[in-house]
Amino acid sequence: MSKYRVGILGATGTVGQRFCQLLENHPQFEITALAASDRSVGKAFSEACPWKLKTPMPASVSEMEVAPITPSLDCDIIFSSLPSGVARETEETFARAGYPVISNSSCYRMEEDVPLLIPEINPEHLALIDVQRRKRGFDRGFIITNPNCAVMSFAPPLAALDRKFGVKEAIITTFQAVSGAGYPGVASLDILDNVLPYIPGEEPKAETEAQKIIGKFSDGSIEKADFTVSAHCFRVNVVDGHTASVRVNLNETSTLEDVIDAMRSFPSAGLHSSPENFIEVREEPSRPQPRLDRNNGNGMSITVGRLFPDNIFDYSFVALSHNTIRGAAGAAILNAELLVEKGIV
Ligand code: NAP
Repeated sequence: MSKYRVGILGATGTVGQRFCQLLENHPQFEITALAASDRSVGKAFSEACPWKLKTPMPASVSEMEVAPITPSLDCDIIFSSLPSGVARETEETFARAGYPVISNSSCYRMEEDVPLLIPEINPEHLALIDVQRRKRGFDRGFIITNPNCAVMSFAPPLAALDRKFGVKEAIITTFQAVSGAGYPGVASLDILDNVLPYIPGEEPKAETEAQKIIGKFSDGSIEKADFTVSAHCFRVNVVDGHTASVRVNLNETSTLEDVIDAMRSFPSAGLHSSPENFIEVREEPSRPQPRLDRNNGNGMSITVGRLFPDNIFDYSFVALSHNTIRGAAGAAILNAELLVEKGIV
């Protein structure tokens, strides 16, 4: 089978590097274009990219010349990992030129005609693509998005609870890794020996995205799930892996066993990059931990632990996901696999 040719916008960045790593030897996709800023354009990828991953830069991309972010790239699908200020205009330009754009940026996530997709939870939201094409006058192109990297840690367990018992409200505190800020990211003198109680722009995303993800597609739009989230987002001295502490009230009473079962039995999407267990529930008191659990399911599982009845809320738990894999490049690749499975690309 011939592979889909993919291009990466923001290829030299933290998420762009993950795309290169995860797409090496992918059975459905091959990288044929890499694009980044004027700083990198015209250079070989190996010269332009400050490669930070433990595995070596794939030989298939190291000599590729970095292109500008203009819609003349030699590819069938665009993965975008641009800063959101640049992404808004660029992603629309690519979609208008006929490319399917799979975006990591925040700028289109909450637009009413743009799917905010997690294949295990809301594949039916892909129906928004037709709505989007009509509304924006796109012909073959479109934009789909994956969630904020911290939302990716807690939206799946909330979806599992909402499906079975209904979520009424939640208080969420995130502990986010430094790689979530890109490279070079947070200054070492700010983060070493420290916890930063503010990540610009993060709390509104944590308070709104899960309701859209868990929402129902009906009559050409998404009816958002009817629950409230209050969030605090902290930056912590961890390299990879975002942790969330969640306290939640449910609409229906339920036993702890049923709550655990709702999470463990949440089905896999059955795609190439799907983990066997979408939500892993650990019962040891000291899990999940970023260093021990971020790579569960090749970095694609959500790990939940410390799941107990709570003194004030119905239940509390801790959830963890790998921010540059399940929270970014891996999520986008899974979305692309879903597009292929559904025959949309
Ligand atoms: P990053 O490490 O700072 O990388 C940014 C990339 O964008 C680089 O390739 C950079 O190219 C390129 N770029 C910057 N300004 C540009 C411009 N004006 N024109 C063209 N290219 C430009 O950031 P990142 O962490 O990979 O994040 C990328 C996007 O993904 C952001 O929207 C972020 O919010 C989102 N995201 C990140 C994570 C995460 O865990 N890091 C998770 C989910 C979503 P040069 O190298 O040439 O400057």
